[in-house]
Amino acid sequence: MSRNFGDKKTDYLRFLSGEHYSITEEPPIVVISAHADDEIIGLGGQISRLKNITFIHITDGAPENMKDAFQYGFASMEQYAKKRYEEFCSALLAAGIKMPSYIKLGFVDQKSSYDLVKITHILASIFMALKPEICITHPYEGGHPDHDSACFSVHMALKILREKRLSTPILFEFCSYHADRQGKMVTFDFLPYESSSISKVILDPEKEKQKIKMFDCFVTQKNVLQNFPTHIECFRKAPEYDFLTPPHEGKLYYEYYDWGMRGQLWRSLAEEALNRLFLSF
Ligand SMILES: [Zn+2]
Repeated sequence: MSRNFGDKKTDYLRFLSGEHYSITEEPPIVVISAHADDEIIGLGGQISRLKNITFIHITDGAPENMKDAFQYGFASMEQYAKKRYEEFCSALLAAGIKMPSYIKLGFVDQKSSYDLVKITHILASIFMALKPEICITHPYEGGHPDHDSACFSVHMALKILREKRLSTPILFEFCSYHADRQGKMVTFDFLPYESSSISKVILDPEKEKQKIKMFDCFVTQKNVLQNFPTHIECFRKAPEYDFLTPPHEGKLYYEYYDWGMRGQLWRSLAEEALNRLFLSF
């Protein structure tokens, strides 16, 4: 069976989900995550079979407060950031990827919300150069401010491409996390959007074993990763978001933590970025 260009969105969603059907040419994919490990959580079980994939990290994974770095015995942000990158490379190696196509933007962990315009422009340039057919990133869900910032910047970068009438990749999402009404972390579920059908993938035992091996590479992220099941991954086509309204009612997940961000501040930064980005169009 050849690729069905009649419904590319459905076709690519099936492709990301690992449904078996033959394609004549593997579509170029760009995975945009806020931190090293987000992509392994979101689609680690699919990575080994995706041949034409580029990874982008928005942040360096090292928050300025050095809390995490000190906890693991690192003396500087740079050392901790380096370790996180090495863990990412080891995880890819566990999936058989030796020389990843990789771009690090290097914005400071927990602070990327202050650089939405810059990140958007950089991503737009990368997309113009790489011409991916598929992009995949975080949903907008109030889990971590950097995740929401990655989501915002990818959506806006694609809007820039559309405004320039350039060919635009189809945008999908992998799961990250958000809060339920009690503030508990919800993983592997999206906030509901009527327009988007979700593809739930149950990993076979071999794939799950590989994903556990990948998780094990992230020694510094052990406490975080234990929250995520290793047998399931979910994908959907990205909905159109209104970034100026909260992703859900009630307190956002990151508002329970001292990560230097509140929803209201994040949305005011998003509004400022929208004004700066699109006033010229
Ligand atoms: Zn993250």
